[in-house]
Amino acid sequence: MAEVLVVGGGVVGMGLAMLLARDDHQITILERDSQPPPGSPDEAWESWDRTGVNQFRLAHLFLSRYREIIEAELPDVAAALVRDGAVRFNPIADAPDFVTGGHRDGDERYEMLSGRRAVVERAVASVTAATAGLKVRRGVVVEGLVTGPEAIPGVPHVSGVRTSEGDEIRADLVIDCSGRRSALPTWLEAIGARRPEEEVDDSGFIYLGRHFRSRDGNLPVSLGPGLQEYGSISSLNLPADNGTWSVTLIARSGDRPMLGLRDTDRWTKVVQSLPTVAHWIDAEPIEDRVVSITKIEDRHRDLRPGGTPVATGLLAAADAWACTNPSVGRGASIGMLHALALRDTLREVGPDRPAELSEAFGVATAATVEPWFRATLAFDRHRLAEMAAIADGTTYEPEDPGFAISKAMGAASGKDPDVLRGFIDTVSVLELPDAVLARPGLMERVIELGGGWRDEPPIGPSRDELVAMATA
Ligand SMILES: Cc1cc2nc3c(=O)[nH]c(=O)nc-3n(C[C@H](O)[C@H](O)[C@H](O)COP(=O)(O)OP(=O)(O)OC[C@H]3O[C@@H](n4cnc5c(N)ncnc54)[C@H](O)[C@@H]3O)c2cc1C
Repeated sequence: MAEVLVVGGGVVGMGLAMLLARDDHQITILERDSQPPPGSPDEAWESWDRTGVNQFRLAHLFLSRYREIIEAELPDVAAALVRDGAVRFNPIADAPDFVTGGHRDGDERYEMLSGRRAVVERAVASVTAATAGLKVRRGVVVEGLVTGPEAIPGVPHVSGVRTSEGDEIRADLVIDCSGRRSALPTWLEAIGARRPEEEVDDSGFIYLGRHFRSRDGNLPVSLGPGLQEYGSISSLNLPADNGTWSVTLIARSGDRPMLGLRDTDRWTKVVQSLPTVAHWIDAEPIEDRVVSITKIEDRHRDLRPGGTPVATGLLAAADAWACTNPSVGRGASIGMLHALALRDTLREVGPDRPAELSEAFGVATAATVEPWFRATLAFDRHRLAEMAAIADGTTYEPEDPGFAISKAMGAASGKDPDVLRGFIDTVSVLELPDAVLARPGLMERVIELGGGWRDEPPIGPSRDELVAMATA
């Protein structure tokens, strides 16, 4: 079995490391942040210093796909999440029968988990620390790659990493899991490799969120999906751990008036004006300000441009491979799908055959996660353009029929139990939209029930009212 270095100990890096350790590989995680996980979920929220993860102060929804993978492959992680208070919920089982058509066999697959990132990451880290064959070295910053004899003439072969302390750590395989800010292209250039082919763009969104704690232990009643569109902004309400939850407004970072929502009073006024969201902030805030995150990149890296690897002995997984705007909460699910694909590839092709391993993982990546990345990117691009059009008082009418179909599907999902389940299958990374729409009769019902989505009366404030509240 192989010695593997995983660069980065985030939620997916740790998940991948555990999957590989359970296949008897010897794994070392190198994590730049030095502070070990604190002793309790409360301390994790209060004091865990994790500057390596920008989104550490926001709630994370672990969609059905993530929950399904860890229950099947890492059940002790699922148990640790629940032990530490992550909330389990099921958007079908929790909705009224007149919307869902009542319980059906298989509805269990829609269960999800959610918690504040610091709390859920601590739970994952607690199982990681107890996993045989897996070491976590915190406070180790990887700064470059070390090479060995080439497996493909002219293509550098990575045989380890160099740390900021100048140490060289060697292994049979290096996996980059250093997240959306991974410096991999620079490291590759420094060893004389080609840079990966990169598609990169500012996702164009700004997130403005606050967390709240329940006064009586109950979570707010959901009056719609977690992600709701209110014209030129969206709201994202996520139940979290231990009677907490988050409410986030999402705007276009280029929408200047909406930048005023960094101010707590303006933010509060706007949330109070959203009829299906206002009651979510009638509670105790657990931080005294609005947490904002912007400059979030959509990025995709092809480590085999033109079919030849930029290097062998090196793979990239999860956010270090590709990431998108996170409002749909798919990062950990797509990341763990990628981790599973990597684990399964390694079962077929060991690191002792580096050229074949690179190729096989490229094929597995294209088959398993690439379609999810593309679907998520398309959704984001459309939503951003739609928000811009609404702010300008125009109508967004792209040529891509996928936009109108996804809008119609959203509108029809409240009116038909089959469409609703299909919609949640796509939302929660269980089944791609094309496969759902190919179900017998589904497309017809989407068009019949949701085709009039443009005529549905808008709820919530007008654009002018929104601007007035965000700038007052
Ligand atoms: C605002 C926001 C909200 C999100 N919400 C959700 C959500 O609700 N649900 C969801 O599924 N996903 C969400 N995501 C995405 C999710 O956070 C990521 O998909 C997930 O964290 C990816 O895990 P990872 O292990 O690949 O990377 P990360 O979790 O980012 O971890 C990378 C790790 O690498 C370490 N590192 C970086 N450089 C080095 C180095 N040179 N040497 C050593 N270590 C290094 C970092 O310190 C960090 O610990 C969100 C993302 C953002 C930006």
